Amino acid sequence: MISASVTDFGQLTTARGNCGTIGDTVTNCGMVPDSVQLRQPVNFLVVQTSPETSMSPEFQQRAAELIDAGRLLYSMGMVPATSGNFSARLKDNTLAITVSGRHKGHLTPADIMLADATGRSLDGNRPSAETLLHVQIYHRFPEACCILHPHSVNATLLSLLADADIELRDYEILKAFPGIDTHECKITVPVFANDQDISRLATVVATRMADTNEVFHGYLIRGHGFYTWGNSVKDALRHVEAFEFLFDCEMRRKGVSHE
Ligand SMILES: [Zn+2]
Repeated sequence: MISASVTDFGQLTTARGNCGTIGDTVTNCGMVPDSVQLRQPVNFLVVQTSPETSMSPEFQQRAAELIDAGRLLYSMGMVPATSGNFSARLKDNTLAITVSGRHKGHLTPADIMLADATGRSLDGNRPSAETLLHVQIYHRFPEACCILHPHSVNATLLSLLADADIELRDYEILKAFPGIDTHECKITVPVFANDQDISRLATVVATRMADTNEVFHGYLIRGHGFYTWGNSVKDALRHVEAFEFLFDCEMRRKGVSHE
């Protein structure tokens, strides 16, 4: 059994900032209920439920979308080996999330499992080791309904070259992110030190993102990869592609290319 403690996941407030607003509407998934007590220790206890629970049409639809996303990101070289993890939040606030250790380019429905809002397994499978990072993002961004975490070459290298947060400014493709309608803008991408203690890392992320007046669309983990999210799987994929383009541009500006 994996056991971890979660201490502080920030505020349940929609962020606003100098690039506009994010999440103007809560769309196709539920809000974080008051019953989610993230200050309590989180144990990945296996809770057996009836098989029908994970076979709901909504679960199957989100699972199919995550499987397709895995194929696409693998074809782009962004989830090598068994790296990365994906999730979608359902209307009842449960999570469809990739099972630990599965290859994201060859996912099948059996590789997507059901967890509760705290990351606790509801179907006997073991969720990704980084599930607590998903839980933190869903708690901090109530409008988020999908999280994608690739390990791309550009994200990995750029995070190793960065001394502090990365600022991306004046790029037309920034308009791929919600609330941005001009290139005359900048977004900040925090860079966190990698940590095998995911509970501790989740707390560091939550602390950095505690200011709800600051807008975030994703973050990097040094030498590891990046996280981004959206109101749907489609939105999250658009953000992955935008970030990957931006990270590639930044690498080339630094005179570094992996091609
Ligand atoms: Zn990872």
